[in-house]
Amino acid sequence: MPILEKIDQQIRARHWTDSIPLEYHYTAGVAGEEFRRELKEHWKLLTSKCPKCKTSYLPARMFCPSCFIETKDRTTIGRPGFVYSYTTVSGDKSGNKTTEPTLVALVKFDGVTGGVVHRLEAAGPEKVRIGLKVEPVLRERNNRTGALTDIVYFKPLGAGLSRRIPATSKASETEAEQKKAHLQNLLEMVDESGYPAGEEESSLAPIREKIAKGEDLTRHEDSLLHKLVDRAREWHRAEKSSAETEPENTMSG
Ligand SMILES: [Zn+2]
Repeated sequence: MPILEKIDQQIRARHWTDSIPLEYHYTAGVAGEEFRRELKEHWKLLTSKCPKCKTSYLPARMFCPSCFIETKDRTTIGRPGFVYSYTTVSGDKSGNKTTEPTLVALVKFDGVTGGVVHRLEAAGPEKVRIGLKVEPVLRERNNRTGALTDIVYFKPLGAGLSRRIPATSKASETEAEQKKAHLQNLLEMVDESGYPAGEEESSLAPIREKIAKGEDLTRHEDSLLHKLVDRAREWHRAEKSSAETEPENTMSG
């Protein structure tokens, strides 16, 4: 029934059950993406600092909510956090009772506004106190996805295994190779998409050179490259869908 036609008799109303396929992309935002990337690639929690009131925010955010100006400074946290508050949870997401209660803490860091709510691995709630110094335990590098769950849990400082296992020179060599291959793939994606980089091509040139030499990109270069990849993907998708759309399926004016 055309959208402008109205039902004039209730008896004509019908309903049926079906499904509509929907696809969506979740974006973490500019600062949110930087935060996730930093966690995934450099094991660090990224904060942003307001140039006016000097407040540091965790996770990094693009604007200071008090001054409403852009936060440009990005710093990573290299010190342990502390338990600001904690509780035990005895149910899962669906409300089912779990066999073991889970310790959950709000972890904050000195001089930083905000914090992280996460699991706390300690030998029982009686071992936890407000102010207890804690550090994150991270997932294996290859299993990281850029989500907060890349942190498996926080643990009391100095308890158990150290989160950093020193890499042998052979391992770090392979890692560098993997990184180079990954960056080359990204470049290829941009090139093959046919996306017209235009003015950005000049900023891309030194990045190409660095990748070819296997040199590390600066954070700015890295984010530019990823931005281009996103745009190239969008471009490619738009090209593809306009090529696939038959004239009779398009809306005529
Ligand atoms: Zn501010």
